[in-house]
Amino acid sequence: MYETIPVGAQHVYPGPLGAVPAVTRTPNSKFSFLPWPSSQSASCHKYALALALLCLLSLWVSSAFALPPAPSTKSLQIYFIDVEGGQATLFITPAGQSLLIDTGWPGNNNRDADRIVAAAHDAGIRKIDFVLITHYHDDHVGGAPQLAASIPIGAFIDHGENRQTTDDITQKRWLAYQQLLSSGKYQHITAKPGDILPVRGIQVKVISSDGALIEKVLPGAGEPNPACANSAQPPADETENSRSLGTLITFGKLRILDLGDLTSDKEHQLMCPVNKIGKVDIYIASHHGFNQSGSAVFVHAIAPRVVIVDNGAAKGGSPSALDIIQSSPNIQTLWQLHFSEESGPAHNTGAEFIANPVGPDAANYLKLTANPDGTFATFNSRTKQSKQYPSAR
Ligand SMILES: [Zn+2]
Repeated sequence: MYETIPVGAQHVYPGPLGAVPAVTRTPNSKFSFLPWPSSQSASCHKYALALALLCLLSLWVSSAFALPPAPSTKSLQIYFIDVEGGQATLFITPAGQSLLIDTGWPGNNNRDADRIVAAAHDAGIRKIDFVLITHYHDDHVGGAPQLAASIPIGAFIDHGENRQTTDDITQKRWLAYQQLLSSGKYQHITAKPGDILPVRGIQVKVISSDGALIEKVLPGAGEPNPACANSAQPPADETENSRSLGTLITFGKLRILDLGDLTSDKEHQLMCPVNKIGKVDIYIASHHGFNQSGSAVFVHAIAPRVVIVDNGAAKGGSPSALDIIQSSPNIQTLWQLHFSEESGPAHNTGAEFIANPVGPDAANYLKLTANPDGTFATFNSRTKQSKQYPSAR
């Protein structure tokens, strides 16, 4: 009696199209194939036949305790899935819940949905509890119908109405998403700044939604930002980008910021005259590292230690945006999902920190594993190497 299961946290996914690799094992393997302790076997031989049953029971218990240790359930896992310049970031919390921020692109023979499902299976989950849609552009909500057809989903979280109805593709994706919600299969949450989302195991606080921002300074934040003196308020962005549903995720001592494609006009309001968010440890670069976001007045104030850019080879990763990250005061490592062709060797990060270098796309991903004490590691599925980071606080 065998069942097929996806490989556990062995970092062997994905194939070029996100195929889910599989292994076979017996469902009751904890009772099979384990070496019988020799001392107990010897003692068993001394017993009469009448005691054989008791002896076997002892071995059964012993075998059960000889299981290899289960993967730590106290860590937070974050997969930065390569969806070619869109966003798809999967969080699996120590409480066993999952949160996916954005669904990548539509089409492409189910490419992005397959890659997300492969990451979910790699993490050992069969359902995504929460799918957060930052905004209604093609590269964020476009993959939602295909994903919903590929894996069970519990709830969708978004910022409310589409505000860019004049853009045909955006409106089309919004309508497809509305159709999905109208199926009645999913819970639906419309989030407002200041809300705490109901994800167990991490705190997910809404910073921005539908163009509105947190009004109050977060606890521990509120430092004046000297860079504001030389930074004018940028003109208002009129697209869905500035409506992005952005969140601050707190896990133990770690603070992780993801603001979707939030633009520099909103960044200025969050950072001037005082820094309302405070410093963060990990910043998921806004807008794939495009230079309409990730302004110096913002990035240098939140002062991340680690930045992950979900850029494509020819989408995001602007030279000036990468330079701003690299010159940030506390920066230790800039990680990128792709080598940015526009930026060239002078502006891209080091080769070991890039999941997909120049060449045929291999859908390599980055994975961050965080512990409540503030230590964490980032794994590059291409190099199979991890980099460890100590706690900052
Ligand atoms: Zn985008």
